[in-house]
Amino acid sequence: MPPLSILLKPASSGCNLRCAYCFYADEASIRTVPNYGLMPREVGHALIEKAVGAAEGSITFLFQGGEPTLAGLDFYRDFVSHVKETAPGGLAVQYAIQTNGTLLDGDWCRFFQENRFLVGLSLDGNRVCHDRFRRDGTGKGTYDRVIKAARLLEETGVEYNVLTVVTGHLAKHIQSVFSTLCKGGFRFQQYIPCLDPLEETRGGQGYSLSPEQYESFLKTLFDLWYRELQQGRYWSIRYFDNLVWMLDGHAPEQCSMRGYCGLQYLVEADGSVYPCDFYGLDQYRLGNILSNSWAELDRGREELGFVEMSLRVPEECKNCQWYPLCRNGCRRDRTVEEDRPGRNYYCRAYAGFFAYALPRLRQAQSMLRSR
Ligand code: SF4
Ligand code: SF4
Repeated sequence: MPPLSILLKPASSGCNLRCAYCFYADEASIRTVPNYGLMPREVGHALIEKAVGAAEGSITFLFQGGEPTLAGLDFYRDFVSHVKETAPGGLAVQYAIQTNGTLLDGDWCRFFQENRFLVGLSLDGNRVCHDRFRRDGTGKGTYDRVIKAARLLEETGVEYNVLTVVTGHLAKHIQSVFSTLCKGGFRFQQYIPCLDPLEETRGGQGYSLSPEQYESFLKTLFDLWYRELQQGRYWSIRYFDNLVWMLDGHAPEQCSMRGYCGLQYLVEADGSVYPCDFYGLDQYRLGNILSNSWAELDRGREELGFVEMSLRVPEECKNCQWYPLCRNGCRRDRTVEEDRPGRNYYCRAYAGFFAYALPRLRQAQSMLRSR
């Protein structure tokens, strides 16, 4: 068994915000139980005991939601203390949490700092883009609250990065988004394209991102990033970092760039396990951490053919010069054509971007190597 990566939903799909593009709210709304409530401690304990028994070398617990801080700080204190009691000496344990930041205070930040949590803070760049879609239950924007959380994380010495969801609107404003993030000192940035609802045709939402918009976004962001790099300023952008890493002959660390689905475990608050955050759906349930062994959960994934499905490469990709870098992207963005695996919805964005950026990506590779 390789190092394990486990994604937990301690507050299930529950959230104090109502972001328009939330993919997990969409997934939850079409399964039998949309919200499993708060994770009982015994579920957390059963997960820890089985996971540390199955892991070799290292294990990462990544808490996500909904909004995972809704589970309360005592849940996390108990979780970490049970890991300390249970994990064998040679096992490296890492923690990460993805949060909207609005509930963070000094106690939370001290806890993250003391236990070396890597915090992902959801921040859509500047006020206009952020407040357009990331609102609370009363319809109010949350930008000021998230910026306050970022400053608190910094003051407390917590390691964190920002996660920006790329909507069609944000794509048009990427210059202002990137410059606002840089001025704010956000050194570690991650941009992920938004998802349309599962049961709807792509492109029909107010926030939807078209392949054309994504292509233009990638090119513009790359120009800005590269110019900064030339002037001696390096901003970590996860997608570009991974591409440079791949040009160096390494495997990408980001699951969606590997070309096939990785061995992920998404554990819902009741202990139900699914193969990926994007597939927390009834038909993909692998079992339950309370009643199934780790081997049985893995067998559930094999029976579904979850990884195998992602290994099928469309003819167009087989013949595409960009396949070594693109690998047809994340399975969730792939199209299906009459039961044949199809190309990624963003195919034209990737092809256009690679043709545009490859020579400078190679330059970036040598600049970064010499740093
Ligand atoms: S759907 Fe995407 S993120 Fe999920 S396991 Fe597959 S490639 Fe990775
Ligand atoms: S650019 Fe398009 S055809 Fe080429 S590998 Fe990517 S998805 Fe496939």
